[in-house]
Amino acid sequence: MDRDSIKKMQIKKLSAALKRAEKIPFLRERIRERRIGGVSDLGDVAKLPFTTKKDLINAFPFGALAVPLNRVLRIHTSSGSTNKPVTTFYTKRDLAIWSELMARGLACAGARRGDVFQNTTSQGFFTGGLGLIQGAERLGLTVVPLGSANPEKQLEVMGNFGVTVFHAIPSFALRMMEMFEASNGLRASLKIRIGILGAEPWTKETRRKIETSLGIGAFNNYGLAEVGGPGVAIECPQKSGLHVWEDHFLMEVVDPTTGEPLEEEEEGELVITPLDREAMPILRYRTGDLTKIIDGKCECGRTHRRIEWIRGRIDDMFKVRGVGVYPSTIEKIIASHKESNGNFLIVLSGVDDITVKMEVSSSAWSNKETVERIRNSVFEEIKDATLLRTIVEVCPPGALPRQEGKAKRLIDQRRL
Ligand code: ZN
Repeated sequence: MDRDSIKKMQIKKLSAALKRAEKIPFLRERIRERRIGGVSDLGDVAKLPFTTKKDLINAFPFGALAVPLNRVLRIHTSSGSTNKPVTTFYTKRDLAIWSELMARGLACAGARRGDVFQNTTSQGFFTGGLGLIQGAERLGLTVVPLGSANPEKQLEVMGNFGVTVFHAIPSFALRMMEMFEASNGLRASLKIRIGILGAEPWTKETRRKIETSLGIGAFNNYGLAEVGGPGVAIECPQKSGLHVWEDHFLMEVVDPTTGEPLEEEEEGELVITPLDREAMPILRYRTGDLTKIIDGKCECGRTHRRIEWIRGRIDDMFKVRGVGVYPSTIEKIIASHKESNGNFLIVLSGVDDITVKMEVSSSAWSNKETVERIRNSVFEEIKDATLLRTIVEVCPPGALPRQEGKAKRLIDQRRL
């Protein structure tokens, strides 16, 4: 579809989405307060009220539901939240569109009928489990729904069924890397060729490492439970940003402090309005993710615009000696060293000290000069990027704690 047709479709869908949003009490109130009659232009979206994570937490469990419960086929909740979760609801049509978008994303990454797909994440409330499975089935892949299990079990099952495509969080791919390094012939026993990775912050540098070490194509997959789960955006084989499926999502990038729209290609907070959702038709969801829109044509021919890799969550930024730092800045530097195995930990301690611990491969670890060289160069690179003098600790593989599920990259022990 050409850009004009996509825009026309978005305006039409936005009008309908606004009507549906009025069925959610807190949005209806805000729409009335602003005396919004309708939308006739995409620019009008800036007049519509935002929906925030806090709104959805306050609405727990049914306050953001816009249809009678007997029309809801499925309930999911957001992941990673330590407080009350965010619920997300699906009608039959919502589920069908979600499956379609997941299938589209998998196909975009190169999966085809004949591929055997394994999901390595939890398949409960987490949208990244069943969402991927539905999409894989919709595309006609052979699905191995193992779900969460330890890495040994995951690889055993991949081997048993000749799995070619898998879905995981990036830190799981790093675990696979370690296992391949530790065992001769393990990689050769597997047929994996595509990894769909997401639901955790990571960088292009880590991706390069994963692709080289695992011998697969790794694709960044983006979405969030609040707007329907994964299936919002994914990379194509050009790997030059993530295509956002704009026939179903309207994206904006706003100033995270003021909420004002930014210029094209300026970095800010991603705001998403799902255009088709029936059960939970929220408006202008503040994702808390920092990125920018990449305008211009992609070599692959898709006309959906792209977003840059998420630089971090706005609330992930930490301050040391008055300097704001995103963990992704440190990750980029570490992962660009070929000796790093991708595992790192930032420890804030004392009054305002920052220590960066990073693991290297066993061969790098066995050479004192290499360790010293890496330490010095990581120190300099972090200083150049952030102006901060850090303590860099180079560690042997396995020295840093491993978590089940999402990796913890920052520990703050400061006595502030
Ligand atoms: Zn593309």
